[in-house]
Order: sequence, then structure tokens, then C-alpha cells
Amino acid sequence: MRAAQLFAPGEMRNIELERPEPGPGEVLIRVEACGICGSDRHMFKGEYPTAKPVTLGHEFSGIVAGLGAGVTALSEGDRVAGDPNVPCGRCSFCRDGKPNHCTELKPIGVMRNGGFAEYVVAPADYLAKLPADLNPLHGAFCEPVSCCVHAIDVARIRPGNRVAIIGGGVIGLLMVELVKREGAGEIVLSTRQAARRALALELGATHSVDPSADGGTGVLLALAPEGYDVVIECAGTGETFLQSMAIARKGGTVVPFGVVPQDERVMISPFDLLTRELRVEPAWLNPRTLNRAAELIASGALSLDRLVTRTIGLGEVPAVIGAPPAPGEIKVIAVP
Ligand code: NAP
Ligand code: ZN
Repeated sequence: MRAAQLFAPGEMRNIELERPEPGPGEVLIRVEACGICGSDRHMFKGEYPTAKPVTLGHEFSGIVAGLGAGVTALSEGDRVAGDPNVPCGRCSFCRDGKPNHCTELKPIGVMRNGGFAEYVVAPADYLAKLPADLNPLHGAFCEPVSCCVHAIDVARIRPGNRVAIIGGGVIGLLMVELVKREGAGEIVLSTRQAARRALALELGATHSVDPSADGGTGVLLALAPEGYDVVIECAGTGETFLQSMAIARKGGTVVPFGVVPQDERVMISPFDLLTRELRVEPAWLNPRTLNRAAELIASGALSLDRLVTRTIGLGEVPAVIGAPPAPGEIKVIAVP
């Protein structure tokens, strides 16, 4: 079968591999769709640790093509989406119900072969079943939506809340729709690209603002002088991390979600944090949220077609991951 593998930082290519065999408790999946994520680009550049060589691709969905010993909950022909973040199930964090903090996490498409291939193997317990008539491209959103669902869980939005979302990539735009479902009174998205600001309004944001002029803090606070009840940071920069705290209301909740480069440092004021009683609640990965994401997607509640800007074949995956996102690009999905 064909697969797009990462061999070393900056070195990714299409190769022929043996079709994998599902082990006990595992499932062979014929990949229908696998989304390209910003973290694939970080892995390509060596900024995020991976096995090597490894087939990248952690946002995969497809059709069950083979069952390992002991798998009874799925049948050949079922459409499924994968939770790539497979925990050990034994460490203290797993036993505490926090699989996203597992000390032995072996994510598919990072530490073991993933979905930029004709076939991928995954544990049956980390798959969600999808409707037979679902658009296959939508299945590839289950993993990113499952991470957003965790962020919504920790944000604890209450009806009528003012919510700011910083960064209008695919994640920020997904958050707009999810925040709306929580009954937020106002949803303000900050992002530089005009097309994304327009799309955010169509998806349910009440306002969208351009941070280019002053970095965004002034224009965001002009819309909410006392600050926002909830701020979800989805841009992943030190500057926007600080901004998320600066625009929160006293007693408000800040959800850091964007991945700021590991060695970046910012200056925060403990006095400010204390006296404004900010709740800083980061949301990392997707602990036990895949099934809810799959159900939301299956129900058609999310406008996913608006987010897919391009589909590509496996042959194009190394070049697309090796280049920065094209202007206007939101989500690129590989279709093997
Ligand atoms: P993305 O496409 O890079 O989106 C981030 C967007 O933020 C950029 O495209 C940019 O859009 C905007 N931005 C940059 N600087 C800004 C600023 N100063 N003010 C306002 N907006 C700014 O990435 P994504 O796929 O949507 O993911 C968003 C973040 O979530 C990434 O850091 C990703 O690694 C992270 N992530 C975290 C988790 C988790 O579990 N916590 C899971 C998945 C992804 P414009 O050009 O329009 O400004
Ligand atoms: Zn564990």
C-alpha cells in the first residue's frame, strides 16, 4: 500500500509499505479521509517529537476492512473515525480518568503509523462508529472536534455569556459553532484574514474583529469594556496568550488551547491574576470526547463543508505538509 512517511526533519516522501495486520483488539481501516493539521507541519520540521520513520496523519476516518482477534463491537464495512491518542490505561493518570496526561501515550500518526496511507490499524476501543451515509470528509473532523469539545467542557460557558475566540483557523471557526450551541450571548472572533472574519459571522459569531491595527486587545475591549466571561485562545502565540488574560472579565475563564512553541516565555502579573480571580483552564487533547464529537458530526450540526478548502491525494501530502498554509487555506484533507 502507499503511505506518506516522515524519515527525518524536512524529509517526507511517499513509499510502498506492507498492508498492516490488525493485532488482538485492533481494526484494519481503509482510509477514506485524513486531515492535515498544523501539528503535522510542526512534526515535519522536527518541532514536535515523533517516531521515525513514521506515517503521519492523526485525523483519519475510513471503512473497517479487517478485525483483529476479540473485536466484536465493529464489523467489516462500518465507517469509523479514530481517536489517535491511545493511552496505556495503566498509569496513574489513566487510572485517574485523565488519558490525555498518560505517561505512555503513543499517538497514531505521531509515535505509530497513521492515516496518510491506504490503510491504518487502530485499537477498536478508540474508534467511533459513523453513519454509513456520512460524507467521508466529515469523518476526518472527529479528532479536531473532539479536542474542541474538551475545551468547551472546561470553559463552562453559561447562557448569555460574552465569549471571545482568538484565532480564526479551523479550530477557532469550529469553536464559534460549538460556543454558539452553549447559548453564549455574544461571540467575538479575532483573526487577521478578512475571509475568515466573514465566515465566522456566517457560522454564528456576533462580531469578528481584525487584530492587525493594535494587536487586537483595544478592539476586543471596545466591544466588552468589562471584559469577556470566557476567552478561548486558538492562535497559539505568546502574544495572544497574554491577550486572552488581558481581555477576560474579573472572575472570568481563560482557556489556553493554541500550542505556543515550547521554548517561548511570556511575562504575567501574578497580582493581576490574583486580584481579578482569573480561572486559567487549559484544554489539552481529547479525553473521552471522541464519541460526542462523532455524534455531533453525524447529526449534521456543524457546517464542515465551509471549512474544507481543498482535498488532495496521498502523493501531494509531503509537499503540502512541507509548505506553510496557503493564503485562505482552512482545512486540507488527504483522500487516499
Ligand atoms: P491555525 O490554522 O494556525 O490557526 C491559528 C490562526 O490564528 C492563524 O491561522 C491566524 O489566522 C490566527 N492568528 C495568528 N496570530 C493572531 C493574532 N495575533 N490575533 C488573532 N489571530 C491570530 O491552527 P488551527 O488548526 O486552527 O489550530 C489552532 C491552534 O490550536 C494551534 O496552535 C494548534 O496547534 C492548536 N491545537 C490545540 C489542540 C489542543 O488539544 N489544545 C488541539 C488541536 C490544535 P489569521 O491569519 O486569520 O490571523
Ligand atoms: Zn497511561
